[in-house]
Amino acid sequence: MSAVHPFGRVLIANRGEIALRIQRACRQLGLETVAVYSEADAQSRHVLEADVALCIGPASAARSYLDADAIILAAKVTGATAIHPGYGFLSENADFAEVVEKAGITFIGPTPESIRLMGDKITAKQTMQASGVPCVPGSDGPLPDNEQAILELATAVGFPVIVKASGGGGGRGMRVVWSADDLIKAVALTRKEAQQAFGNPTLYLERFMQKPRHIEIQVLCDTHGKALWLGARDCSLQRRHQKVLEEAPPPGIPPELIAEIGASCAQACRNIGYRGAGTFEFLYEDGIFAFIEMNTRLQVEHPITEETTGIDIVCAQIEIAQGKPLDIEQSAIHTTGHAIECRINAEDPFSFAPSPGRVSRWDVPGGAGIRLDTHIVAGSAVQPYYDSLIAKVIARGSTRDEAIRRLKVALAELQVETILTNIPLHQALLSDPGFVEGGVDIHHLEHWLAKRE
Ligand code: ADP
Repeated sequence: MSAVHPFGRVLIANRGEIALRIQRACRQLGLETVAVYSEADAQSRHVLEADVALCIGPASAARSYLDADAIILAAKVTGATAIHPGYGFLSENADFAEVVEKAGITFIGPTPESIRLMGDKITAKQTMQASGVPCVPGSDGPLPDNEQAILELATAVGFPVIVKASGGGGGRGMRVVWSADDLIKAVALTRKEAQQAFGNPTLYLERFMQKPRHIEIQVLCDTHGKALWLGARDCSLQRRHQKVLEEAPPPGIPPELIAEIGASCAQACRNIGYRGAGTFEFLYEDGIFAFIEMNTRLQVEHPITEETTGIDIVCAQIEIAQGKPLDIEQSAIHTTGHAIECRINAEDPFSFAPSPGRVSRWDVPGGAGIRLDTHIVAGSAVQPYYDSLIAKVIARGSTRDEAIRRLKVALAELQVETILTNIPLHQALLSDPGFVEGGVDIHHLEHWLAKRE
């Protein structure tokens, strides 16, 4: 058994709402926090509320929140003995996790090996297939160079297919191909883009599912061999592959089916010696789950799982990094009620143009079942340099209907001036008959938006 490593100070290598979320968890565990920040964020709440704060560079993320050397130096200077990377920025960078550990600092996340294995989508899929996790049928490895061989592969999988970059991410490096005539050209184009965008021309292909839902399973694993799954989330409401609203549990999917897929995810974690929190992403169509990728970090939408299982995922991440065993059994984990999260972005609600600037009014919602995760207060500046997420409004109810009703009231209470936000989009969505019925596919939001134009 590995020893417990209590650490006194945790450096949070992030900004915005998630930096505050992690700060709260540290405080609850009696740990001091170190904030790092860019010059643009000097007055941000995560900076003002930290025990220690250090400026690590100018506004540009590449020269601040993505500067691994500056962050490690900041940890050394402040005596932090652990780093939590949050989401985005360096959170899924295996090289970063490696240099952190080489510097004698605990990385609050999976091992660099796990991050690397899952960061390559081909090795991730192969690993999952070997563990019995159902995957989208496809090339089972990199595409060959030979045109005839590619054509045979695609024909065997069946058109339409989607050609994907093994190093891809953020919804880029993918192309749908509807017929054999377009295949070779599409492969050449995607290869070129993959090389340019990710420095890796390796491609694979899989069957293109036409009306899937995006369903994901949250896992939590300690360093003593225990791997748990914490229910599923439905993240089908997306625009340009960006999630807009998420809910747990996914409406209309039999709990036995989710339990079966959850158990296979936990088993895969045991097989690879996974550590910390992670998410298995699936496409779900006609009662079948098909794995697409694993995220080896905390997700934006983790609160809906916390609200329905009662488990604090961030505290658990920290305790796992300290070497503590998870003190809950799978049989004791239940999903209770329903939770929905709206991502509030500083943007025009229908053109989606970013709307940075000073927030002159910020009246927050409250009441039973409402949770607001945000770094904004009246007077805060929303910076143009980073993503536009300014808050997450999360509503819990004993039923889905109650959660929706609470969310509507909360969104009406959240009054924001003078920047624009997507609150009107969420309000309209919550009354959309498709959403109210539940179980829409990943194209629903874009079709719905197109119809409004
Ligand atoms: P990324 O890492 O860039 O987010 P993913 O592999 O998670 O890439 O895919 C992103 C999105 O692309 C999915 O949520 C889904 O909308 C679509 N997609 C990916 N693979 C398929 C597929 N086989 N069939 C249909 N849609 C797919």
